[in-house]
Amino acid sequence: MTDQSRDIATNWLVHAGLRPTRQRVALAELLVGDGQHRHVTAESLFESAKKRGDSVSLATVYNTLRAFCDAGVLQEITVDGSRSYFDTNTHDHPHFFWEDEGRLSDAPSDQLVIQRLPKAPEGVEIASVDVVIRLRKKA
Ligand SMILES: [Zn+2]
Repeated sequence: MTDQSRDIATNWLVHAGLRPTRQRVALAELLVGDGQHRHVTAESLFESAKKRGDSVSLATVYNTLRAFCDAGVLQEITVDGSRSYFDTNTHDHPHFFWEDEGRLSDAPSDQLVIQRLPKAPEGVEIASVDVVIRLRKKA
């Protein structure tokens, strides 16, 4: 990794109010170091870190992703009960889920129209709306 990607990662952490520990910077570099948005799972980020030669456990990757979510710089998208995706783009936007590949990607926001949502039950409010469009190969 380059000095530039390390700087981007460090700034991203500091902006989020997170202490830029060596481990956090290493993972943040993989997430935002090239200035691009991406979608990862704990497993895929763990594999990337391993490939780069970082010594980090899957549990640490998972906890670090949680900390980034709590700090508001990552958005968690749950596609099925067992698998969470983490998105560096925290603005509301729809997603495609490619079922054959288990991959999540952005769907064009300008083509999505939500006209009405059900009223939230008494005493609660809608915190967010996730739109995940599942794709599969045509038969
Ligand atoms: Zn996204």
